[in-house]
Amino acid sequence: MKLFEHEAKEIFRTFKMPTPPGGFAKTSAEAKKRAIEVGKPVVVKALVLSGKRGKAGGVKFADTPEEAEKFAEEILAMRINDLPVEAVLIEEKLDIQQEIYAGITIDRNERKYVVIGSAAGGMSIEELAEESPEKIVKMHVDPSLGFQAYEAREMAIAMGFKGKQINQLGSFFLKLWNIVDAFDVELTEINPLILAKDGRFLAADARLNIDDNSLYRHKDFIEKIKREPVEQNERERLATENDMAYVELDGNIACICNGAGLTMATLDAVSVYGGKASTFLDLGGGADAERVERGIEIAMMYSNVKAILVNIMAGITRCDDVAKGILSARDDGDIKVPLVIRMVGTNEEEGQELLTKAGIPFLKTMEDAASKIVELAKEVA
Ligand code: GDP
Ligand code: MN
Repeated sequence: MKLFEHEAKEIFRTFKMPTPPGGFAKTSAEAKKRAIEVGKPVVVKALVLSGKRGKAGGVKFADTPEEAEKFAEEILAMRINDLPVEAVLIEEKLDIQQEIYAGITIDRNERKYVVIGSAAGGMSIEELAEESPEKIVKMHVDPSLGFQAYEAREMAIAMGFKGKQINQLGSFFLKLWNIVDAFDVELTEINPLILAKDGRFLAADARLNIDDNSLYRHKDFIEKIKREPVEQNERERLATENDMAYVELDGNIACICNGAGLTMATLDAVSVYGGKASTFLDLGGGADAERVERGIEIAMMYSNVKAILVNIMAGITRCDDVAKGILSARDDGDIKVPLVIRMVGTNEEEGQELLTKAGIPFLKTMEDAASKIVELAKEVA
């Protein structure tokens, strides 16, 4: 479960981690009130479950409550990374001396947590990780031992801090660890953790994802924030309703298959031929014509999709049924991008015949199908 920034900060505050004063607003009038309460210049931030809000125009600075009201109205009307903005966070604007990055996540290869920090935080941490990885400090934590206070101080030292800042920043990392431990957190990031001009360290941003498998242990918290734990976009919601496994990625080729293993293999094949998948869509077992049609409809709702690859291993599923589903989707005008099919198994010939007659490319192997769809996707991109 991903938490909104204000929800994560609620947890931060219970652990006595300093955050800028402020509050949450659903309307621009409320935003003005919050800004009056803060009584200083404020930052107006979009509350959406997505990072990179700053780059998308979802973080603005207001000197007066009237300005905060105006910016809140603008931000509330925005969609950020495909998500509608339903609320904003109004917080005191800090005078920044330095932007720091602090995070904790799980390193599955090491079977440990990893605490990550950098003295060069801010909006382009991903670029920093690529260009100057030496500026990022990492420390593994054995879950059975936990993160120790001396390790937290070592972290601050390795990041280049000196004097009393070692204890201040160390204590920040220790609190973050205690939150991770108490809330079964899979990923948390504070970017930026601000060192203000007055010498205070404050969490200006907050990202916190709780392991879904542990939610039963955090019922009190979920009750307190008063919302459903699952947050899905329309496509994800439709896929769940239809019992399909659906994951969005940042490429442009939708892979619609049956079985999670085959879908993964198809994504890999697309990548081997130089393409990038936009969609992992596992139709599940026994996909009939209607299911295939529904899967294509859902995949096409995602604006990144520029090509579709259907890859089916038919057992209980029958290839002629799949073909009928594809034809029906096409006849309804749902398919607006190039499409390639690869099918093997039950009633393969019948399925092939239907598709070939309709002029839809049908390929025998996954490799051929993947290389073909990558070529077609490049032409339309
Ligand atoms: P994100 O882009 O979704 O990660 O949103 P952030 O909350 O991290 O805000 C983006 C950027 O806005 C930060 O990296 C800061 O540079 C800036 N920012 C956020 N809060 C403050 C603040 O209180 N004062 C100042 N001066 N800048 C801020
Ligand atoms: Mn941030």
